[in-house]
Amino acid sequence: MGILMNALSREKMREWLCEKDPQKLENLYRQAREEKLRWIGSKVYFRGLIEFSNFCSKNCHYCGIRRDHDILKRYSMSEEEILECAQMAYAMDYGSIVLQSGERQDDSFILFIEKIIQKVKDLTSQQLGITLSLGEQRAETYERWFHAGAHRYLLRMETSSRELYRKLHPADHSFDARLNCLKTLRRIGYQVGTGVMIGLPFQTEDDLVDDIFFFKEEDVDMIGMGPYIPHANTPLTWPDGDYNAADHFRLGLVMIALTRLVLQDVNIAAATALQTLNPKGRERGVCAGANIIMPNITPTTYRSLYKLYDNKPCLDENADLCKSCLEKRLAHDGIQIGYGEWGDSPHFSKRQKTT
Ligand code: SAH
Ligand code: SF4
Repeated sequence: MGILMNALSREKMREWLCEKDPQKLENLYRQAREEKLRWIGSKVYFRGLIEFSNFCSKNCHYCGIRRDHDILKRYSMSEEEILECAQMAYAMDYGSIVLQSGERQDDSFILFIEKIIQKVKDLTSQQLGITLSLGEQRAETYERWFHAGAHRYLLRMETSSRELYRKLHPADHSFDARLNCLKTLRRIGYQVGTGVMIGLPFQTEDDLVDDIFFFKEEDVDMIGMGPYIPHANTPLTWPDGDYNAADHFRLGLVMIALTRLVLQDVNIAAATALQTLNPKGRERGVCAGANIIMPNITPTTYRSLYKLYDNKPCLDENADLCKSCLEKRLAHDGIQIGYGEWGDSPHFSKRQKTT
């Protein structure tokens, strides 16, 4: 209980982010796990992730599919291919899918997504939940997709520091525009998710503590955050070229645990980036307080082209293999999977009742 009381102070949170003692860290993760049990329960929910296109009109300095990465082969899955993946997720009894891609705001893209959402709903008797992760869009677009049947939206702020945001993006990418998108999504009625990258160049422990307070202030329902991992063909490089994977992994777990202790009843995803740094990364994330896993169900042929960062895992495994190895490892840690359930965050349900 001692940790819990103190974890809420900025100073204590900063100390935890610097903590390297494995035993003390285990104690923190255990407290976060207990907090999760208290507010969310013991289940973990799966969201089948479909990375359906790597075309992107933006140029974030850290991202492997940025517009100016001109040697990258671009792809877009067809409607049939996406629907096939959605049906597979439904057949495997995943409660929801996540449709993710680079950002596009053109009319044909907006219409394409609207149709896909409607068809996925029709094909699955309105059962399969749909989360979108398609970047910044006009309010009218978010509304169209919401009315078509999407009910959750993930839009990471990447950092809550305006100064750091400026360093990570070209001048025409706006922190305020992105923040406004979060507010618009909330007004429309989506379950809103945001998050940050952890261990970015120039990022301080204070920035990370501010990120957690930012999540709280914005009253979000879901958090998706993960360690920053360099991509060789991007302008952002690790300052001395000496990226420490183990330390980034530790920081990723500490951020999950602290976020659970401060925000309590939100959904927190154990990001794929954790798995890149450690083969058991997602399970470890769950043991540090996360309750959502997003197994990659993108067809194998496209995976190597959706490389946001280097060494992304499961590039040559098919979706079923990924599912069964994950299941086994979770069962080993005594974790149940909420098959066929949407697994909405209790935070969202409470927010609905009070508005
Ligand atoms: N285009 C959409 C969704 C796809 S990108 C968007 O930007 O919102 C999804 C996420 O990948 C981003 O939000 C970012 O946090 C993450 N990402 C990109 N490059 C990364 C890197 N080098 N390391 C870790 N995460 C990265
Ligand atoms: Fe595009 Fe998203 Fe990558 Fe930025 S982070 S370049 S918006 S895919």
